Amino acid sequence: MAECRMEWLKPDDYRRIKRETPIAYLPWGAHEWHGKHAVLGLDSLKADCICLALAQRTGGVVFPPVYCGHGTMQRHGQDCTLEFPVELIEQMARHYFLQLRVEGFRVVVAVLGHYGRDHVRAIQRMAEWVNSDFAGVLRVIAEPDYAWTSPEMPGDHAGANETSYMMHFAPDSVDLSRLPSVADSPRLDAKAEGVGGPDPRTEASADRGRRQLEMLLEHAVPQIQGALAGLR
Ligand SMILES: [Zn+2]
Repeated sequence: MAECRMEWLKPDDYRRIKRETPIAYLPWGAHEWHGKHAVLGLDSLKADCICLALAQRTGGVVFPPVYCGHGTMQRHGQDCTLEFPVELIEQMARHYFLQLRVEGFRVVVAVLGHYGRDHVRAIQRMAEWVNSDFAGVLRVIAEPDYAWTSPEMPGDHAGANETSYMMHFAPDSVDLSRLPSVADSPRLDAKAEGVGGPDPRTEASADRGRRQLEMLLEHAVPQIQGALAGLR
């Protein structure tokens, strides 16, 4: 795959991609507990891999993942998690979108790997603001990844959906044996484990992750290409 990650591109290559396809991908996640079986950067890593898969289909540049989350598990007393104020999320979103416009991008796709309600709303509020102020010039699409796979494959927190994505993208990053065994705990204690949604021990698989990604691409690629075509 040709390099499309902003931080790994030399200026002429970055400019060429931008000229050919002025789409910027912005993976946005958090530092957050995702169960004993999954890595702490899951939201950002998942969003990053999704953006890379999207860019492979549409062209464009993938920016480094943003690690900055509001409405995290820290609010439920969980450690291994950083929580930032919603005002900061809003400011960062606003300035990222404006800076990407200055760089000449026409479509910005923020893939939100972290689903905190107020976190998502803050970013989407800024997207709406930019879309109305720069109508016809810049179009921002800001969606949690599950927006493109629901209702068949809804989002969760370290459950079958997120765990499957990681089993597909980075199999070594998942270790289901770190969760209590099904024999000992037929029902996973969601609160104690900090895991929400379908049980990853029985329902997660790399194959499910691959199918989720295929569904996401099927819905998101035409939307993104349509957004760019609508501006040209
Ligand atoms: Zn997550």
